[in-house]
Amino acid sequence: MKEKLIRYIRNFSGYFLLLFGIITALGISILSGILIMGVGALITVHSKKLPIKRKYKIILCLLLFISAVGLFPENTDQVKTSDPGSSKTVNANSTQNIKNKAKTSNIKIHFIDTGNSDCIFVQTEDKNLLIDAGDNDDEQRIVNYLNEQKITKINYLVSTHPDADHCGGLDAVVTNFNIDQSYVANGSSESKTYRDFIYALAAKGLTPAVPLEDTAISLDQNTQIKFYNTHATGEGNELSLVTLLESGDHKMLFMGDATEKVEKNIINLLPHDIDILKVSHHGSKSATSEQFLKTLNIDYAVIECGKNNKYNHPDQQTLDRLKNHDIKTLRTDEKGNITFTIKNSKLSYKFSETTSDKGSAPVTKDPGDEIKKQHEEAVQQSHQETQTQAEPAQQTHQQDSTTVYIPQTGSKYHSNPYCSNMKNSSAVSLTEAQNRGYEPCKKCY
Ligand SMILES: [Zn+2]
Ligand SMILES: [Zn+2]
Repeated sequence: MKEKLIRYIRNFSGYFLLLFGIITALGISILSGILIMGVGALITVHSKKLPIKRKYKIILCLLLFISAVGLFPENTDQVKTSDPGSSKTVNANSTQNIKNKAKTSNIKIHFIDTGNSDCIFVQTEDKNLLIDAGDNDDEQRIVNYLNEQKITKINYLVSTHPDADHCGGLDAVVTNFNIDQSYVANGSSESKTYRDFIYALAAKGLTPAVPLEDTAISLDQNTQIKFYNTHATGEGNELSLVTLLESGDHKMLFMGDATEKVEKNIINLLPHDIDILKVSHHGSKSATSEQFLKTLNIDYAVIECGKNNKYNHPDQQTLDRLKNHDIKTLRTDEKGNITFTIKNSKLSYKFSETTSDKGSAPVTKDPGDEIKKQHEEAVQQSHQETQTQAEPAQQTHQQDSTTVYIPQTGSKYHSNPYCSNMKNSSAVSLTEAQNRGYEPCKKCY
């Protein structure tokens, strides 16, 4: 009787551990799951009245089976929902963890819900970056959001292009926070909204710069940003600066309102494995082309758009294209603020309610005619310099040299990274290109 009871308990605990091990392996950790399954298998086999030889055979088979299971990659993107709609955690898959040999910093990327406009805030271990600042009427909301994060300084402030739904709140950001360096798109704009931003910078003695193409700017020891489409000509969305944020093997691409034409121009300069894409132009069909999605292997797409907006953003065609490429798409009109966190190389995201627009943030003071004039001239000059490529406008980086572009194979250096005489360019200084024996391209230099 006693022996029967013990065997019964053994049997039960063996089966229980086997099952528990499988659940652990699938849901939490493969290694711990295998260990638990192994113990369960041993107990199960030992509690059976089998000849010794057969027991060993069964144990051997079980161990082989378990190690085979362990070789399969963990399910991708297991979403553990603790409170539906409010907070979700996504575990990066184990193959990705093995791949992530390059060190990744702990980073937060906030897609701030400002309706049908863009505002993205990035916190790294050392420096803060803000890309765009919504419409004019989003100023207070953005200031409130950044205050809630206890931010006092924005090291890099990026205006992707002068459209009001991107630069509207930038003047308020400049007035209310400390800014180190601001970057703007090539070309200029006569709009009052854009001028308010430039004047707010001027009032603090700051002049914006057009960044260099494909040139790294460090945010912390493992993290950097690079800009693309810095030579754009034309107007509106064509001018959009594209920002690539890289930390270890994690890559985030912020498209501004860049068009399909811009996508084509820059695609060969971009890495082809993107964790998060900030979808261009609020999900309109003018971008996020089939070719773009086919070339880039994207995990997550974020669309910044407003509820029932008059432009019908995002376009159903764009949503379909993203879906067909198995890209998990998150929208600010549905989720509110969307915050991605990279911690110990793992990517997770959560949502929070749209921030209130109540309050009275200090407004931009008129800097006076003399300062306005000086800075208009300075900005004008910085744009001209970039266009002629005589001396890039960026003052704080690469002060010593002009940047040129060299191909992977070939002997000419180019001023235009999209010059049709070249494929797969990389940026180097003019001095370096000359020292390495490159000669100027007849077409673009
Ligand atoms: Zn635009
Ligand atoms: Zn826009």
